[in-house]
Amino acid sequence: ADLTVQDVLRMAKENNVKFIRLQFTDMFGILKNVAITEKQLEKALNNELMFDGSSIEGYVRIEESDMYLRPDPNTFVIYPWTQGEGAEARLICDIYNPDGTPFEGDPRYILKRATQKALDMGYTLNVGPECEFFLFHTDSEGVPTIKTHDKAGYFDMAPVDLGENARRDMVINLEKMGFEVEASHHELAPGQHEIGFKYSEAISAADNIMTFRYVVRVIAQRHGLHASFMPKPVFGIAGSGMHTNMSLSTVDGTNAFYDENGKDGLSQAAYYFMGGIFKHIKGMAAITNPTVNSYKRLVPGYEAPVYIAWSGKNRSPLIRVPAKRGASTRVELRNPDPSCNPYFTMAAALQAGLEGIEKKINPPEPTNVNIYEMTPEERTEAGIDNLPGNLFEAILELEKDDFIKKAMGDHVHPLYLEAKKLEWHNFASRVHQWEVDEYLTKF
Ligand code: ADP
Ligand code: MG
Ligand code: MG
Ligand code: MG
Ligand code: MG
Repeated sequence: ADLTVQDVLRMAKENNVKFIRLQFTDMFGILKNVAITEKQLEKALNNELMFDGSSIEGYVRIEESDMYLRPDPNTFVIYPWTQGEGAEARLICDIYNPDGTPFEGDPRYILKRATQKALDMGYTLNVGPECEFFLFHTDSEGVPTIKTHDKAGYFDMAPVDLGENARRDMVINLEKMGFEVEASHHELAPGQHEIGFKYSEAISAADNIMTFRYVVRVIAQRHGLHASFMPKPVFGIAGSGMHTNMSLSTVDGTNAFYDENGKDGLSQAAYYFMGGIFKHIKGMAAITNPTVNSYKRLVPGYEAPVYIAWSGKNRSPLIRVPAKRGASTRVELRNPDPSCNPYFTMAAALQAGLEGIEKKINPPEPTNVNIYEMTPEERTEAGIDNLPGNLFEAILELEKDDFIKKAMGDHVHPLYLEAKKLEWHNFASRVHQWEVDEYLTKF
């Protein structure tokens, strides 16, 4: 249901809302907010609130720093854990220039541009994310550690531990905020969890991911734990992914990836969509896997993808097409991780998929054997390429991919590449503990 400005003002009053966070997302997928009191809410909803854009990374230069926040009334939600006296609510905002045009550096706008393109072609993108995260203990001073205490494994019925309690509380709060939680379980690694919620149209799915990360961290903190979406916090155990399930639907709401007469029940559009993603997957890596640490997850042995292949049969490849057909027909992109900017990830995947449809790009043949058991020669023979091996390789791939750069827009891609190069340089020029352990006494 669409909420009007009047609805929001009424709901805020009825629920004793005293503080409102006006939220948006920076280039690096970090949630930003401008906090206001209920007295300023009406002004904010009339799009009259300004903020200094030059204080946000990847936004604007000092000399053009005044930006307008346009709250999306449909995103009004009261944080359930603040309910009572002095409740706190949030609104997700679009960013506008002083001249009333949308700001090109706003990730939400960049995704909207992609969804508009899809709409022009008769499609809506639906996205169902599976966010994994770790719950760690904090030390006596409250500083996060990488220690977990639990012994529960995947789907185990372990005695209730701190992590389980926290996760249950997260689910309860998310549901109060309107999330339809579909799966909530312990993951492979100690201290690792997954909460999956029902798919929705792309913009709301990306908004939901940002909200989800915030709620998980707040609730963890209330349980004395630290929730981390870092892709690979601990060497030797599984990292955290953000499998991104995607399908297109047509205007009448039918799943455009399903065709009972198509090969394996998939439509031509589904194959072309995959074809487009395969074409750009390397260029997209700096977006889907944007940190130095992202590439510590993308190694063999942990169910994370390493090779560029797809399958309907096994779980290891980059794209899996789950067996379900009908309304659940979808492709599951398995390389994105929860350190990514979800607006950019969806914008890039959607633009690439649509290009596949427009240009009738076929995906490679499916790989239905365990790719990790193939020799490098067998993989070369089968035409299976690797994802970039580190952030630097990913940066070079993005630099080469004009299409993905265009999907990010002229404002964002130069700033993004510059920032990512600096991030790589900061990492690569430092001497890490591993090097000291390995070389100090050897040489
Ligand atoms: P897995 O089997 O990989 O663990 P999950 O059951 O954890 O998958 O998550 C599947 C996700 O796919 C959920 O978010 C679900 O809502 C979503 N999904 C289901 N149907 C569609 C669809 N047609 N389009 C996009 N996402 C979908
Ligand atoms: Mg899952
Ligand atoms: Mg499942
Ligand atoms: Mg999982
Ligand atoms: Mg999955």
